Amino acid sequence: MSSNNTWDDLKLKKLQDLWKQGLPISKIGEMLGVSRNSIAGKAHRMGLPKRNSPISSDDKSSLQKRKDEVVDENIPLKIKLRSVQWSRTKCCWPEGDPKQKNFKFCGKDIYPGRPYCDKHSLLAYTNTRENS
Ligand SMILES: [Zn+2]
Repeated sequence: MSSNNTWDDLKLKKLQDLWKQGLPISKIGEMLGVSRNSIAGKAHRMGLPKRNSPISSDDKSSLQKRKDEVVDENIPLKIKLRSVQWSRTKCCWPEGDPKQKNFKFCGKDIYPGRPYCDKHSLLAYTNTRENS
């Protein structure tokens, strides 16, 4: 189909219109039945204003996407940090046998700056020293 590569006035008019509408070059090519390169070359020769290629607009949308993802990630992270902070105000020293029903965490107010209450932080510190 060699006629696909010929430009008549109608096609040129259409190209101009579609170009001004901001359609991607590949899309214009699809609608006019000519290659993307042909569109780009013709537009250049016609002196149509330069515009973003579909590639750079894709980059923009993926950048936007990345931004959204970062925001989305931050929210659960903040909640996570908050919940960790909340649980850290209570001693989480395990008491009893984890296999038994009476197993629980200490739950006393922590010793300031330590993850456990004063009694259990003492135990934890002793254990750490012994283990290392
Ligand atoms: Zn405790």
